[in-house]
Amino acid sequence: MTVTKIALVGIGKIARDQHVPTIAASDRFELVAAVTGHEPPEGVPGYRTIAQMKEAHPDVQAVSICTPPRGRMKVIADALAHDLDVMIEKPPAATISEAATFAGMAEKAGRIFYATWHSREAAGVEPARKWLNGKEIHRVDVNWKEDVRVWHPGQEWIWEPGIGVFDPGINALSVLTHILPEPLMLKSAELRFPANRDAPIAVDLDFDHGQAPVRVEFDFDQRGPQTWDIDIETDGGHLKLSKGASQLAIDGKPVEVGDESEYTRLYRHFAELLDSRQSDADLSPFRHVADAFLLGRRREVGAFEE
Ligand code: NAP
Repeated sequence: MTVTKIALVGIGKIARDQHVPTIAASDRFELVAAVTGHEPPEGVPGYRTIAQMKEAHPDVQAVSICTPPRGRMKVIADALAHDLDVMIEKPPAATISEAATFAGMAEKAGRIFYATWHSREAAGVEPARKWLNGKEIHRVDVNWKEDVRVWHPGQEWIWEPGIGVFDPGINALSVLTHILPEPLMLKSAELRFPANRDAPIAVDLDFDHGQAPVRVEFDFDQRGPQTWDIDIETDGGHLKLSKGASQLAIDGKPVEVGDESEYTRLYRHFAELLDSRQSDADLSPFRHVADAFLLGRRREVGAFEE
Protein backbone atom coordinates (compact mmCIF):
# COMPACT_ATOMS: atom_id res chain seq x y z
CA MET A 1 0.00 0.00 0.00
CA THR A 2 1.20 3.52 -0.80
CA VAL A 3 1.84 5.60 2.31
CA THR A 4 1.32 9.34 1.82
CA LYS A 5 3.55 11.56 3.92
CA ILE A 6 1.41 14.38 5.20
CA ALA A 7 1.83 17.58 7.26
CA LEU A 8 -0.81 19.34 9.35
CA VAL A 9 -1.16 23.11 9.10
CA GLY A 10 -2.67 24.86 12.17
CA ILE A 11 -2.47 22.89 15.39
CA GLY A 12 -5.60 23.89 17.30
CA LYS A 13 -8.52 22.01 18.82
CA ILE A 14 -9.61 19.97 15.81
CA ALA A 15 -6.07 19.12 14.72
CA ARG A 16 -5.29 17.71 18.19
CA ASP A 17 -8.71 16.11 18.84
CA GLN A 18 -9.21 14.42 15.47
CA HIS A 19 -6.53 14.83 12.79
CA VAL A 20 -3.48 13.76 14.83
CA PRO A 21 -5.06 10.56 16.26
CA THR A 22 -6.77 9.66 12.97
CA ILE A 23 -3.54 9.95 10.98
CA ALA A 24 -1.68 8.01 13.70
CA ALA A 25 -4.21 5.17 13.38
CA SER A 26 -4.10 5.16 9.57
CA ASP A 27 -1.81 2.85 7.60
CA ARG A 28 -2.34 5.04 4.52
CA PHE A 29 -0.93 8.33 5.91
CA GLU A 30 2.15 9.20 7.94
CA LEU A 31 2.23 12.47 9.90
CA VAL A 32 5.71 13.81 9.16
CA ALA A 33 5.52 17.47 10.23
CA ALA A 34 3.37 20.33 11.47
CA VAL A 35 3.23 23.95 10.33
CA THR A 36 2.37 25.97 13.41
CA GLY A 37 2.92 29.30 15.11
CA HIS A 38 2.93 27.48 18.46
CA GLU A 39 3.73 24.00 19.77
CA PRO A 40 3.61 21.05 17.34
CA PRO A 41 1.96 17.78 18.47
CA GLU A 42 4.23 15.62 20.62
CA GLY A 43 6.89 13.80 18.61
CA VAL A 44 6.21 15.75 15.41
CA PRO A 45 8.68 18.42 14.19
CA GLY A 46 7.14 21.89 13.84
CA TYR A 47 7.91 24.62 11.29
CA ARG A 48 6.70 28.21 11.01
CA THR A 49 5.97 28.10 7.24
CA ILE A 50 5.10 25.57 4.56
CA ALA A 51 8.31 26.55 2.74
CA GLN A 52 10.44 25.70 5.81
CA MET A 53 8.56 22.44 6.33
CA LYS A 54 8.98 21.38 2.69
CA GLU A 55 12.67 22.26 2.72
CA ALA A 56 13.21 20.01 5.75
CA HIS A 57 10.90 17.25 4.42
CA PRO A 58 10.94 17.27 0.60
CA ASP A 59 9.13 13.91 0.64
CA VAL A 60 5.92 15.38 2.14
CA GLN A 61 3.24 15.03 -0.54
CA ALA A 62 0.12 16.50 1.07
CA VAL A 63 -1.09 18.94 3.70
CA SER A 64 -4.24 18.91 5.77
CA ILE A 65 -5.19 22.48 6.67
CA CYS A 66 -6.84 23.02 10.07
CA THR A 67 -6.63 26.81 10.39
CA PRO A 68 -9.81 28.94 10.65
CA PRO A 69 -11.51 29.71 7.30
CA ARG A 70 -10.25 33.29 7.06
CA GLY A 71 -6.71 33.26 5.63
CA ARG A 72 -7.00 29.91 3.82
CA MET A 73 -6.42 31.49 0.40
CA LYS A 74 -2.78 32.24 1.21
CA VAL A 75 -2.17 28.91 2.93
CA ILE A 76 -3.60 26.94 0.00
CA ALA A 77 -1.64 29.01 -2.55
CA ASP A 78 1.52 28.34 -0.52
CA ALA A 79 0.85 24.60 -0.38
CA LEU A 80 0.18 24.38 -4.12
CA ALA A 81 3.31 26.42 -4.87
CA HIS A 82 5.23 23.69 -3.01
CA ASP A 83 3.67 20.86 -5.06
CA LEU A 84 1.44 19.60 -2.26
CA ASP A 85 -1.98 17.99 -2.51
CA VAL A 86 -4.40 19.77 -0.21
CA MET A 87 -7.24 18.85 2.13
CA ILE A 88 -9.00 21.59 4.12
CA GLU A 89 -11.31 21.72 7.15
CA LYS A 90 -14.81 23.15 6.79
CA PRO A 91 -15.96 25.91 6.26
CA PRO A 92 -13.79 26.21 3.15
CA ALA A 93 -12.93 29.92 3.15
CA ALA A 94 -13.89 33.44 4.20
CA THR A 95 -15.94 34.08 1.04
CA ILE A 96 -17.61 32.17 -1.78
CA SER A 97 -15.35 33.94 -4.30
CA GLU A 98 -12.23 32.63 -2.55
CA ALA A 99 -13.58 29.12 -2.09
CA ALA A 100 -14.63 28.91 -5.74
CA THR A 101 -11.02 29.44 -6.89
CA PHE A 102 -9.38 26.63 -4.90
CA ALA A 103 -10.16 23.66 -7.15
CA GLY A 104 -9.06 25.63 -10.25
CA MET A 105 -5.85 26.71 -8.52
CA ALA A 106 -5.13 23.08 -7.66
CA GLU A 107 -5.89 21.87 -11.18
CA LYS A 108 -3.57 24.46 -12.65
CA ALA A 109 -0.84 23.30 -10.26
CA GLY A 110 -1.55 19.64 -11.12
CA ARG A 111 -2.52 18.89 -7.50
CA ILE A 112 -5.55 17.35 -5.75
CA PHE A 113 -7.88 19.52 -3.68
CA TYR A 114 -10.41 18.20 -1.15
CA ALA A 115 -12.86 20.54 0.63
CA THR A 116 -13.96 18.28 3.49
CA TRP A 117 -17.36 18.16 5.22
CA HIS A 118 -16.76 15.94 8.25
CA SER A 119 -20.45 15.64 9.19
CA ARG A 120 -21.17 14.08 5.79
CA GLU A 121 -19.02 11.19 6.97
CA ALA A 122 -21.12 10.57 10.11
CA ALA A 123 -22.27 6.95 10.24
CA GLY A 124 -25.98 7.64 9.68
CA VAL A 125 -25.61 9.83 6.61
CA GLU A 126 -25.13 7.32 3.79
CA PRO A 127 -27.86 4.93 5.08
CA ALA A 128 -30.19 7.94 5.40
CA ARG A 129 -29.46 9.06 1.83
CA LYS A 130 -30.19 5.55 0.52
CA TRP A 131 -33.41 5.24 2.56
CA LEU A 132 -34.69 8.59 1.28
CA ASN A 133 -34.01 7.67 -2.35
CA GLY A 134 -37.35 7.45 -4.23
CA LYS A 135 -39.45 8.65 -1.27
CA GLU A 136 -41.62 11.75 -1.33
CA ILE A 137 -40.44 14.27 1.23
CA HIS A 138 -43.20 16.10 3.11
CA ARG A 139 -41.30 18.09 5.73
CA VAL A 140 -37.77 18.56 7.13
CA ASP A 141 -36.84 19.97 10.56
CA VAL A 142 -33.27 20.65 11.63
CA ASN A 143 -32.32 21.57 15.19
CA TRP A 144 -28.57 22.14 15.56
CA LYS A 145 -28.10 23.70 18.98
CA GLU A 146 -24.97 23.72 21.11
CA ASP A 147 -23.13 25.79 23.69
CA VAL A 148 -20.32 27.78 22.08
CA ARG A 149 -18.64 28.11 25.50
CA VAL A 150 -18.14 24.32 25.60
CA TRP A 151 -17.18 23.66 21.98
CA HIS A 152 -15.20 26.80 21.11
CA PRO A 153 -13.74 28.09 24.37
CA GLY A 154 -11.80 31.31 23.84
CA GLN A 155 -11.78 31.06 20.02
CA GLU A 156 -11.91 34.69 18.89
CA TRP A 157 -12.10 33.82 15.17
CA ILE A 158 -15.50 32.17 15.67
CA TRP A 159 -17.00 35.65 16.24
CA GLU A 160 -15.54 37.17 13.09
CA PRO A 161 -18.17 38.52 10.64
CA GLY A 162 -19.75 35.71 8.62
CA ILE A 163 -19.08 32.82 11.02
CA GLY A 164 -20.71 32.59 14.47
CA VAL A 165 -23.30 29.83 14.72
CA PHE A 166 -22.79 28.99 11.03
CA ASP A 167 -19.56 27.24 12.04
CA PRO A 168 -21.51 24.26 13.50
CA GLY A 169 -24.63 25.02 11.44
CA ILE A 170 -22.81 24.42 8.17
CA ASN A 171 -22.31 20.83 9.33
CA ALA A 172 -26.10 20.32 9.27
CA LEU A 173 -26.27 21.96 5.85
CA SER A 174 -23.53 19.63 4.60
CA VAL A 175 -25.65 16.64 5.65
CA LEU A 176 -28.90 18.03 4.20
CA THR A 177 -27.35 18.89 0.85
CA HIS A 178 -25.99 15.33 0.65
CA ILE A 179 -29.07 13.32 1.63
CA LEU A 180 -31.93 15.32 0.06
CA PRO A 181 -32.65 14.52 -3.58
CA GLU A 182 -33.58 18.08 -4.67
CA PRO A 183 -31.67 21.34 -4.23
CA LEU A 184 -32.69 23.57 -1.31
CA MET A 185 -33.97 27.07 -2.02
CA LEU A 186 -33.85 29.61 0.79
CA LYS A 187 -37.12 31.54 1.26
CA SER A 188 -36.44 33.58 4.38
CA ALA A 189 -34.02 33.82 7.28
CA GLU A 190 -33.56 35.54 10.62
CA LEU A 191 -30.05 36.12 11.98
CA ARG A 192 -29.71 37.14 15.63
CA PHE A 193 -26.55 39.07 16.51
CA PRO A 194 -25.39 39.65 20.11
CA ALA A 195 -25.12 43.38 20.80
CA ASN A 196 -21.34 43.01 21.30
CA ARG A 197 -20.51 40.70 18.35
CA ASP A 198 -20.37 40.84 14.54
CA ALA A 199 -21.53 37.27 13.90
CA PRO A 200 -24.89 35.58 14.57
CA ILE A 201 -25.44 33.55 17.73
CA ALA A 202 -28.71 32.07 16.44
CA VAL A 203 -30.27 31.65 13.01
CA ASP A 204 -33.62 30.43 11.64
CA LEU A 205 -33.77 29.41 7.98
CA ASP A 206 -36.83 28.48 5.93
CA PHE A 207 -36.14 26.62 2.70
CA ASP A 208 -38.25 24.91 0.06
CA HIS A 209 -37.26 21.43 -1.08
CA GLY A 210 -39.57 21.03 -4.08
CA GLN A 211 -43.01 21.46 -2.45
CA ALA A 212 -41.79 20.49 1.05
CA PRO A 213 -40.95 23.04 3.76
CA VAL A 214 -37.54 22.77 5.42
CA ARG A 215 -37.16 24.53 8.78
CA VAL A 216 -33.61 24.93 10.11
CA GLU A 217 -32.76 26.33 13.55
CA PHE A 218 -29.19 26.97 14.71
CA ASP A 219 -28.39 28.14 18.24
CA PHE A 220 -24.96 28.70 19.80
CA ASP A 221 -26.33 29.43 23.28
CA GLN A 222 -27.93 26.13 24.25
CA ARG A 223 -27.18 25.11 27.84
CA GLY A 224 -27.77 21.57 29.15
CA PRO A 225 -28.27 18.73 26.65
CA GLN A 226 -26.95 19.52 23.20
CA THR A 227 -29.04 18.89 20.06
CA TRP A 228 -27.83 17.96 16.58
CA ASP A 229 -30.99 16.47 15.03
CA ILE A 230 -32.54 16.19 11.56
CA ASP A 231 -36.16 14.95 11.23
CA ILE A 232 -37.60 14.09 7.83
CA GLU A 233 -41.26 13.20 7.24
CA THR A 234 -41.83 11.18 4.05
CA ASP A 235 -44.56 9.15 2.34
CA GLY A 236 -42.71 6.05 3.57
CA GLY A 237 -42.26 6.97 7.23
CA HIS A 238 -40.25 9.23 9.54
CA LEU A 239 -36.44 9.41 9.43
CA LYS A 240 -34.44 10.83 12.32
CA LEU A 241 -30.72 11.54 12.34
CA SER A 242 -29.45 12.45 15.80
CA LYS A 243 -26.18 13.14 17.63
CA GLY A 244 -24.72 14.90 14.61
CA ALA A 245 -26.01 12.20 12.20
CA SER A 246 -24.08 9.43 13.95
CA GLN A 247 -27.42 7.75 14.85
CA LEU A 248 -30.34 6.91 12.57
CA ALA A 249 -33.90 5.85 13.42
CA ILE A 250 -36.82 5.04 11.12
CA ASP A 251 -40.29 5.43 12.64
CA GLY A 252 -38.67 5.58 16.07
CA LYS A 253 -36.70 2.31 15.64
CA PRO A 254 -32.90 2.59 15.75
CA VAL A 255 -31.06 1.40 12.63
CA GLU A 256 -27.61 -0.21 12.99
CA VAL A 257 -25.14 2.08 11.18
CA GLY A 258 -21.78 1.17 12.74
CA ASP A 259 -19.54 3.47 14.70
CA GLU A 260 -16.62 4.31 12.40
CA SER A 261 -15.46 7.85 13.09
CA GLU A 262 -16.09 10.76 10.73
CA TYR A 263 -12.39 11.52 10.44
CA THR A 264 -11.43 7.91 9.61
CA ARG A 265 -13.82 8.12 6.67
CA LEU A 266 -12.62 11.61 5.75
CA TYR A 267 -8.99 10.48 5.43
CA ARG A 268 -10.08 7.33 3.55
CA HIS A 269 -11.87 9.54 1.03
CA PHE A 270 -8.78 11.74 0.72
CA ALA A 271 -6.74 8.59 0.00
CA GLU A 272 -9.24 7.59 -2.71
CA LEU A 273 -8.98 11.05 -4.27
CA LEU A 274 -5.18 10.84 -4.22
CA ASP A 275 -5.25 7.38 -5.81
CA SER A 276 -7.64 8.42 -8.56
CA ARG A 277 -6.13 11.95 -8.90
CA GLN A 278 -9.59 13.51 -8.54
CA SER A 279 -10.52 16.65 -6.57
CA ASP A 280 -13.70 17.06 -4.50
CA ALA A 281 -14.83 20.61 -3.88
CA ASP A 282 -18.58 20.81 -3.31
CA LEU A 283 -19.43 24.31 -2.04
CA SER A 284 -23.22 23.91 -1.73
CA PRO A 285 -23.38 24.12 2.11
CA PHE A 286 -21.31 27.30 2.02
CA ARG A 287 -23.57 28.86 -0.65
CA HIS A 288 -26.57 28.41 1.65
CA VAL A 289 -24.73 30.33 4.38
CA ALA A 290 -24.05 33.17 1.93
CA ASP A 291 -27.75 33.13 0.91
CA ALA A 292 -28.74 33.52 4.57
CA PHE A 293 -26.68 36.70 4.77
CA LEU A 294 -28.24 37.94 1.50
CA LEU A 295 -31.87 37.30 2.46
CA GLY A 296 -31.79 37.30 6.24
CA ARG A 297 -33.45 39.83 8.52
CA ARG A 298 -31.08 40.88 11.30
CA ARG A 299 -32.06 41.27 14.91
CA GLU A 300 -29.93 42.40 17.85
CA VAL A 301 -30.09 40.28 21.01
CA GLY A 302 -28.40 40.54 24.42
CA ALA A 303 -24.62 40.76 24.64
CA PHE A 304 -22.72 37.45 24.61
CA GLU A 305 -20.44 36.71 27.58
CA GLU A 306 -18.13 33.66 27.60
P1 NAP B 1 -8.62 26.60 16.92
O1 NAP B 1 -8.60 25.69 18.09
O2 NAP B 1 -8.77 28.05 17.13
O3 NAP B 1 -7.29 26.29 16.11
C1 NAP B 1 -6.99 26.93 14.88
C2 NAP B 1 -5.49 26.92 14.67
O4 NAP B 1 -5.25 27.54 13.41
C3 NAP B 1 -4.71 27.71 15.70
O5 NAP B 1 -4.31 26.92 16.78
C4 NAP B 1 -3.52 28.21 14.90
O6 NAP B 1 -2.62 27.13 14.80
C5 NAP B 1 -4.05 28.35 13.49
N1 NAP B 1 -4.39 29.72 13.08
C6 NAP B 1 -3.91 30.35 11.99
N2 NAP B 1 -4.44 31.58 11.90
C7 NAP B 1 -5.26 31.76 12.93
C8 NAP B 1 -6.08 32.82 13.37
N3 NAP B 1 -6.17 33.97 12.68
N4 NAP B 1 -6.82 32.66 14.51
C9 NAP B 1 -6.75 31.50 15.20
N5 NAP B 1 -5.98 30.44 14.81
C10 NAP B 1 -5.24 30.57 13.70
O7 NAP B 1 -9.77 26.18 15.88
P2 NAP B 1 -10.37 24.72 15.61
O8 NAP B 1 -11.55 24.51 16.50
O9 NAP B 1 -9.29 23.71 15.61
O10 NAP B 1 -10.98 24.95 14.16
C11 NAP B 1 -10.17 25.01 13.01
C12 NAP B 1 -11.02 24.65 11.79
O11 NAP B 1 -11.54 23.33 12.00
C13 NAP B 1 -12.23 25.57 11.61
O12 NAP B 1 -12.47 25.78 10.25
C14 NAP B 1 -13.37 24.78 12.23
O13 NAP B 1 -14.64 25.06 11.67
C15 NAP B 1 -12.96 23.35 11.91
N6 NAP B 1 -13.53 22.35 12.84
C16 NAP B 1 -13.49 22.53 14.20
C17 NAP B 1 -14.11 21.60 15.03
C18 NAP B 1 -14.09 21.73 16.54
O14 NAP B 1 -14.77 20.94 17.22
N7 NAP B 1 -13.35 22.65 17.14
C19 NAP B 1 -14.74 20.49 14.49
C20 NAP B 1 -14.70 20.31 13.12
C21 NAP B 1 -14.11 21.25 12.29
P3 NAP B 1 -1.11 27.22 15.33
O15 NAP B 1 -1.25 27.47 16.80
O16 NAP B 1 -0.58 25.91 15.00
O17 NAP B 1 -0.46 28.33 14.60
